[in-house]
Amino acid sequence: MVTSSGNRVMVVKSGGPTAIPEWRVLFKEAIPDLEIRCWTESGALADIDYAMVWEPEPGRLARMPNLRLILSSAVGVEHILADPGLPRHIPILRTVPPEAADQMAEFVSWAVLHLHRDIPTLQQQQRQRIWKFHDPPLARDRRVGILGMGMMGRRCANALVALGFDVAGWSRTRRSIPKVRAYAGACELRPFLESLDIAVCLLPATPQTQGILGADALRWLKKGACIVNAGRGQQVPRLDLLAAIDSGHVAWAILDVFEQEPLAPEDPLWTHSRVIVTPHVASLPSRASRARFVADAILRFERGERPVTLYDPMLGY
Ligand code: NAP
Repeated sequence: MVTSSGNRVMVVKSGGPTAIPEWRVLFKEAIPDLEIRCWTESGALADIDYAMVWEPEPGRLARMPNLRLILSSAVGVEHILADPGLPRHIPILRTVPPEAADQMAEFVSWAVLHLHRDIPTLQQQQRQRIWKFHDPPLARDRRVGILGMGMMGRRCANALVALGFDVAGWSRTRRSIPKVRAYAGACELRPFLESLDIAVCLLPATPQTQGILGADALRWLKKGACIVNAGRGQQVPRLDLLAAIDSGHVAWAILDVFEQEPLAPEDPLWTHSRVIVTPHVASLPSRASRARFVADAILRFERGERPVTLYDPMLGY
């Protein structure tokens, strides 16, 4: 669809109306004739070719008769799939700029090093003025496993290999990455988890991954293993995790994502002595990097190429 002015139109719901001038500047360079309109002042819905959104109001995308591509303004797409009236025939792009995976690798490297060097115990000792040290194993003797070897998981695996860790990855299909032991499919989840000292969850939210690190899977981990969850909260049911920590089976958990966000003020996770809470900050790529990624995807889409990060409805991610 091209408006009477000759432009293609993208409606944006990301960062609120005050972010629109910045989005306009960012897209201007890459696609000068892409007209950016605010979601709340979108003009004629028939003008709209593209919608870049975060949590679109249910039913609104379906009222855009010439919509060609829906662009999630973030990596995940659950906030779009939650719309019961979503026009299912329109492709959805996940926005995964290289910066997003780099930031995730920083977060996961921090979390794994923090647990590996037992910094949480040292911080507890500091509060009690206790001068006592422990001999940490070498990184090469610490087994770290990543659940989900997608754009995020692979970048994190490479970062952990570079730090010297003994790294394994688990995914739906087997992913071969140098120096990373590859596990795949439901039947290899148990041997994968049984081998780990630190489990890092970077899975997408799908019906299959819901509750995947529940009571049984947590029992498969070695006693004293640690969990890092930067995938989605639903993957590690909080009551199962709290039971595993309180029984001493899981030593520490670093949680960036939660079943309910923001985490409720009364949630016991906030104050648990063996849980570190971060407010969904593992990967927060800049608007500039997301605009570059989205502009490139639109241009590829218009050339008839399939953007690599299209959501696959058959797989659910
Ligand atoms: P992706 O490229 O789609 O990769 C998903 C990975 O999960 C793939 O390796 C896939 O296996 C695997 N997988 C999916 N379903 C599975 C199942 N049932 N069993 C085993 N493995 C399964 O996703 P991504 O870009 O890496 O992002 C992953 C997730 O990170 C996002 O969906 C989001 O939940 C989370 N995230 C969090 C933050 C944060 O700030 N905390 C930021 C961004 C993203 P195959 O390789 O076989 O396809």
